[in-house]
Amino acid sequence: MSADTPTPAARRLACPRCLRPASSCLCALARPTPHRTPVLVLQHPQEQRQAKNSVALLRLSLQHCEVVVGEHFAPAVLNAWLHRPGWDTRLLYPDVPAAPAPHLPAAPAGLPLRLVVLDATWRKSLRLLLAHPALAALPRLALVAPPPTRYRSIRAARRPDQVSTLEATVQALAQLEGPGFHAQPLLDAFDRFVQQVAARRGGAGTEAV
Ligand SMILES: [Zn+2]
Repeated sequence: MSADTPTPAARRLACPRCLRPASSCLCALARPTPHRTPVLVLQHPQEQRQAKNSVALLRLSLQHCEVVVGEHFAPAVLNAWLHRPGWDTRLLYPDVPAAPAPHLPAAPAGLPLRLVVLDATWRKSLRLLLAHPALAALPRLALVAPPPTRYRSIRAARRPDQVSTLEATVQALAQLEGPGFHAQPLLDAFDRFVQQVAARRGGAGTEAV
């Protein structure tokens, strides 16, 4: 049975909270993680179906995290998701030649930040950005430092150019919120999640996550 096409019986067995099959329920791994910057994840439909995807654990753990699944968004719908009055919304994305960051006047000082994160492969996230001018027009937040060394063992299990959405989001929140943001329990839980996925696939240490 393919993981992409669960039988009706398997769907019935899905956990009502994390919406995953009971055999891979993530709820026990969730670590409530206080933070003040709301996170909106735009998730490519292909990612939603991946057992190895990290966003379900992120959504279960962050107190203010919305996930919208889609590939093509109508401008009005996307604008409603992206812009909330009284908030300064930033897109977690580097300033790259293929999609340069916009030059914008600074937002009024004192506005609280919201973070928009794209959950897709590098190629698909770039396509998403280029196809949606409202996304490309958002001020960017780029990660300023590489992930801490202690995660190298997990990262080594992936393609070198790929950092999970969970790790990137956690790093961005740490960057924005400083030492008051305590992500270690969530990162430890993510470590266990990576090990569980690898163990289920019988390819521990070699699976791209
Ligand atoms: Zn669950």
